[in-house]
Amino acid sequence: MLDLNKLCEDKQTIAISSHIRPDGDAFGSSLGLYAYLKKKYPDKKIDVFMVDPNPLFSFLPGYDDIKTSPSEEAYDLFIALDFGDKERLGNNKVLIDNAKDVACVDHHLEYKGIAPEANSYVLPDASSTAELVYDLVGKDNIDDDSAICIYTGIVCDTGVFQYSNTSQKTMETAGYLMTFNFDHSKVVAEAFYEKTYRQTLLLGRSLLESILLMDGKVIVSVITQRTLKFYNASSKDLEGIVSQMKHTKGVDVAIFMHETVTGEFKVSLRSNENINVAVIAAKLGGGGHERAAGLTMSGSSYDVINNVTAEIEKQYNEAEEESG
Ligand code: AMP
Ligand code: MN
Ligand code: MN
Repeated sequence: MLDLNKLCEDKQTIAISSHIRPDGDAFGSSLGLYAYLKKKYPDKKIDVFMVDPNPLFSFLPGYDDIKTSPSEEAYDLFIALDFGDKERLGNNKVLIDNAKDVACVDHHLEYKGIAPEANSYVLPDASSTAELVYDLVGKDNIDDDSAICIYTGIVCDTGVFQYSNTSQKTMETAGYLMTFNFDHSKVVAEAFYEKTYRQTLLLGRSLLESILLMDGKVIVSVITQRTLKFYNASSKDLEGIVSQMKHTKGVDVAIFMHETVTGEFKVSLRSNENINVAVIAAKLGGGGHERAAGLTMSGSSYDVINNVTAEIEKQYNEAEEESG
């Protein structure tokens, strides 16, 4: 395993960042590591960057320190959290390009070697990058600040310990984190379940307008720019919709997409054990995990549906051939 102290000891300036459209794991892993490094190395310059942070996570310690515009500074070390492809850094790509050394902690499948192997801690089976940060920081160094951050990351990426990425170790880690001074049920309520009324309306609308395809095995819904404008909403207001769609009985794959700019869609995929959406997303230029993946695609929503369902069909056919 990567030795965090060996890595940081001789560095004077350290930048941390996660991916664009940061989710709970992006915040939890980044701010958890930030809390630890700030305390351990009070004399070093440690900065955390994020593109367009979601105020939903403003309850996390360190949130107010997040730098939202990119820096040209050549940091001694850049630590990438929760992504393995530098394109996912958005405007913060300059940080990785200018850094003198790079490390990466991640649990995605499409790791693109953005850091030297000795500086990487990449385990696709881990529930979350936050859980990996816990390993690196070490049980004995966890404090109240890092505990709430890491707990939040785990809760968000496991769907409150529901998804198949939840392991015995995940539960044991979370159990230990609960012994620190923070309100764990409030984290679950606020970071995972709570929605603004606008988000509730968009969820309702997405469910109401969803359609079933492929004999009810696939559910699809689309939110256009026009609808987003009508509700004065942004992509941040669409979190969690695809998981709710996936709860539909008989469904193997949920496809939720929203129009980011005219003619471009951000697509979220969720599946069960019957379909591997990481393979589909990767084929179409995105990435993610076996049962939760995403991509961005140009064209119409019908193009997206045709492309994704064709890949789903292929997987059903392959499975049928295998079972004879
Ligand atoms: P989302 O549907 O955006 O919640 O993403 C589900 C998973 O897929 C997350 O682990 C994301 O990090 C990953 N993911 C989403 N979009 C992309 C993309 N364009 N490229 C690579 N990975 C992605
Ligand atoms: Mn993430
Ligand atoms: Mn993650």
